[in-house]
Amino acid sequence: MTAANASTLFRIVHTVCSHDCPDSCGVLVTVNEKGRAVKVAGDPKHPVTQGFLCGKVAKYLDRVYAPSRILYPLKRRANVKKGPLERGREHESFERVTWDEALAAIAQQLKNIADEFGPESILPYSYAGTIGVLGYGSMDRRFFHRLGASQLDRTICSEAGGVAWKLVYGNKLGTPTEDFRLAKLILAWGANIHGNNVHLWPMIEQARRNGGRLIVIDPYRTRTAALADWHIAIRPGTDGALALGMMHVILNEGLEDREYINQMTNGFEQLAERAREYTPDRVAAWTGMTVAGIEALAREYAMTRPAALRLNYGVQRSENGGTAVRAIAMLPALTGAWKHRGGGGVLSTSGGFDWDENAVRRPDLALASPLGRLARTVNMSELGRALTAEGPEPGEVPPVKALFIYNSNPGAVAPNHNAVTKGMARPDLFTVVHEQFFTDTTDYADYILPATTFLEHTDVQGAYGHYFVQLSQKAIEPLGEARPNVWLFGELARRMGFEEECFRDSEMDLIRQALAIGADGHSTRPEMEHITLEGLKQQGHIPLAFHFSPEKRPFQPYVSGTLPITSGRIEFYSEKLAAQGLDPLPAFVPAVESRFGTLAERFPLEFLSRKADNYMNTTFANLDGHRKMEARTSERLEMHPTDAAARGIVDGETVKIWNDRGELRLTAMLNEALPAGVVAGKLDWAKLSPGGANVNALTSERLTDIGAGATFYSTLVEVGKG
Ligand code: SF4
Repeated sequence: MTAANASTLFRIVHTVCSHDCPDSCGVLVTVNEKGRAVKVAGDPKHPVTQGFLCGKVAKYLDRVYAPSRILYPLKRRANVKKGPLERGREHESFERVTWDEALAAIAQQLKNIADEFGPESILPYSYAGTIGVLGYGSMDRRFFHRLGASQLDRTICSEAGGVAWKLVYGNKLGTPTEDFRLAKLILAWGANIHGNNVHLWPMIEQARRNGGRLIVIDPYRTRTAALADWHIAIRPGTDGALALGMMHVILNEGLEDREYINQMTNGFEQLAERAREYTPDRVAAWTGMTVAGIEALAREYAMTRPAALRLNYGVQRSENGGTAVRAIAMLPALTGAWKHRGGGGVLSTSGGFDWDENAVRRPDLALASPLGRLARTVNMSELGRALTAEGPEPGEVPPVKALFIYNSNPGAVAPNHNAVTKGMARPDLFTVVHEQFFTDTTDYADYILPATTFLEHTDVQGAYGHYFVQLSQKAIEPLGEARPNVWLFGELARRMGFEEECFRDSEMDLIRQALAIGADGHSTRPEMEHITLEGLKQQGHIPLAFHFSPEKRPFQPYVSGTLPITSGRIEFYSEKLAAQGLDPLPAFVPAVESRFGTLAERFPLEFLSRKADNYMNTTFANLDGHRKMEARTSERLEMHPTDAAARGIVDGETVKIWNDRGELRLTAMLNEALPAGVVAGKLDWAKLSPGGANVNALTSERLTDIGAGATFYSTLVEVGKG
């Protein structure tokens, strides 16, 4: 959708916010006659965006036109060591080169490394810096498959929860955002809706105006928790125990929906037997809740209709986080909450979008690589280990010799920061970073390549918080020599001598392939058959078929039919896990790094590495306007007055926080936003943090029980005067 205003010659272009957020807002960009974007606004016609943007993106032009943007390819100057660079002076360590020079040199170096060490010694590292279909994973995947580079297991954010949800339901669907307004109870579990799912908030407000209640379960009193009718501050990582305790009460009091259970689920008897073990007094001892509180929560949840669960990904970033999500996901199946419009729940809606990923990413190209097969997989949550491994032992795959980073800032966001930066500082590691700004990661790059923002390229996008396909049209020409992923990897493929036609595909070619557009111009995917490129250009957003007419034919997942899972029914008991020798039923196993483990004797405090409301992980943290909005808790360690008093710490003094992996120094901020025994620091750039260390100096590379994800929220520390 592009509209021109004849009197002013301003154009309005429909784009989509591609930052890692469930809302995937439709963004209207006003562009003046000189081709400069002068305004961004939420699309008023988009049923979820509803005409407004969050505080992060409302000021987006500050980011696009920031004087500090990287606009030209850069090469590390000879004899400049890799490592932290002073903010604002990073450019002094690099020299400007042309794209031709950079691409030729990078291609040659990748060839040399592949020849000497094998292509699996090259590791791509990317995540959701952009979640557009093309930007997230398209030409880049083709390139690395064809090269035979290691595959990256993208586990850092949501894998444990995603796998766990699918173990119960078979796919990731959920209650439409728009229907939350009909709920009489909204249970936000590990979900800071105000901070990172803000377009759900108007629906909740509407529900509350109609008598609905909001309950928030979160160890930390977030902005959302502070606005709730009831905030339950459980101890970190005890969510699974609480879910099982709720099941105990629900079953004990006969509050389950037997009709729904009989019709739609599998393994109820086994689950009921397991839940009997989780008496409220046991669960109270783990969670820190009272027995009465657990009983009241279970009753209110089971007896209120419709009851909607908003489960977010914080819960699953703990050692037992996969099982916790599995247990929580079973609650609406136990109470039949899915039957009532406005009830049910959602972790992610991404399963609704049936993109033709094979066509876009072409894993078959691995057969044409020197390996002749798909390459080994490296878990991104173990990057420090991968980069510092001594190997190879006989028979092992080679160590990582080249790192190609895009859509991510592992120098700040990856767990076990000290191991990661030790690895990235290796002089023998060849590192390329495609970025918009100098970051903690670019300080270790051999080459930095300038990347576009979502205003400067074309993409197609779904969402993990709604059911609309959207076209993001290029609103402005790329600034300087910034280029999108599709262009970068197409050009690099050419220089590597990859002759396959697919490396010449344009963005529009790739979009057609993602939508599986057929000869008649329509998508051939069942839920997108009504979608054409022309339609997307005109309308900007089009709902998936099952969500096409919410008023006449509301979409309610998991109310009937066969599910895409072994038994075809919601699985309380997982044959799949049983076959792997794992517990097929949910159980609560306290984390090694929690107050219940022996490590707590040395490190007695549970550390929460919190996300900032006004950053997107570390994106936006370099912009002054965004930093101002976060000033209250920046560089602070929030701690309960009881824990501070026990250590003789007073508000405002410098404290040291440490464990066996690292240490940092922050300013003590005493408050009761978190329970005793828990302390919290906020994720920020390392180079913008005191002493150049951020919260990931403390986090570990231990993996979750399901999905092999990161365990940022299972971290023990001690705190003392700094
Ligand atoms: S970050 Fe989320 S809420 Fe903000 S504009 Fe982007 S999609 Fe919308």
